[in-house]
Amino acid sequence: MKKIASLGTVHARILPLLLGWVLAAPSVSAANHDFAACLDRLRTQAIQRGISKATFDTHAARIEPDLSVLESLDAQPEFKTPIWDYLAALVDEERVEDGRAMLEQWRDVLRRVEERFGVDPATVVSVWGVESNFGRSLGQRPLLVSLGTLACMGRRQDYFRGEFFAALKIIDDGHIAPERLTGSWAGAFGQTQFMPSTFLQLAVDFDGDGRRDLVDNVPDSLASTANFLQRGGWRIGESWGFEVNLPPGFDASIAGRRNKQPMSTWIGRGVKRANGEPLPAGGPDRALLLPAGKDGPAFLVGKNFDVIYGYNAAESYALAIAHLSDRLRGGGSFRTPWPTDDPGLSRAERRELQRLLIARGHDIGEADGMIGTKTRRAIAQEQKNLALEPDGRAGLRILEALRPMAGN
Ligand code: CA
Repeated sequence: MKKIASLGTVHARILPLLLGWVLAAPSVSAANHDFAACLDRLRTQAIQRGISKATFDTHAARIEPDLSVLESLDAQPEFKTPIWDYLAALVDEERVEDGRAMLEQWRDVLRRVEERFGVDPATVVSVWGVESNFGRSLGQRPLLVSLGTLACMGRRQDYFRGEFFAALKIIDDGHIAPERLTGSWAGAFGQTQFMPSTFLQLAVDFDGDGRRDLVDNVPDSLASTANFLQRGGWRIGESWGFEVNLPPGFDASIAGRRNKQPMSTWIGRGVKRANGEPLPAGGPDRALLLPAGKDGPAFLVGKNFDVIYGYNAAESYALAIAHLSDRLRGGGSFRTPWPTDDPGLSRAERRELQRLLIARGHDIGEADGMIGTKTRRAIAQEQKNLALEPDGRAGLRILEALRPMAGN
């Protein structure tokens, strides 16, 4: 697994205790002293692992802990994102257009990547588009600070210690300049959002300059993504899956990504392609995926869906990449609508909603399309005024309710 998608049991009590401990005035110096002592131990271990003293002393010896990463580590999701919201923003017209432009711009590189790794251009570009918006959203947190903090504090110190050393190794080997090594709070970085240990295992120097650069080098990034998928067991020429229709009264207890069945089983149960055509007889075993239950879109997925899943260990995430890749190949939206009367918003619609909220006097920062706590709070307030359920969700209903009120 590439990222920290599931961190196991959340110990919500630890953070307040830890913060209380750190923020209490007499303890600040003690905490800093503990962190400094931890860094000292990490220095010894790093040197034992062959990382140069100069690299550690220049880039890691004087870091200050960033306590906000501990909040992220222990955050309880305040808001469960429905899959239709997730897909609406990840696979919107903007990303399809951007993806098509990238396919064109990097056509030769993608062709050579496919020759070497067997993964088609649309899939590689879709991972790139979902992971970092084609290299535009790399994450701004200095990696050594995040990982150093997580290696010394919180509940996953062993794991993050390994990632901290891996990040130092990347710098030590000269692949990426230290100031360019920024990423998510948990240490995923670059155009492919690899963890440092994944980088060491799977990053590829595709342009042949001697450096594996997943931050500023697109050929290296595209090839590394393809290498990740190939090593995950990618089957050349096989589709991830396709949308299907279920017959009335279908027994959905057979659904589940791991429950692969021969195509004859699905044909026998009356499953059809979403366009109404019969299923192809034969071919690889596939599993039935029902992301929103049996009243929403249904899919038969195969091994390559699992390989994409391996990138981030979330079915919704894998479906976003799979669907984006179909859109890049000229495919359309899902035929079965999501089971909701309040569909999700594209990024353009999210920005529009935020502009409407700003115009109505809400202090939510910039209209950047990112739905954070402030935006949700403003939405909830408007929902309340409109006698809608104040759940703070950015959906089509609140957008359409606010549109006519603009300028009043
Ligand atoms: Ca390179």
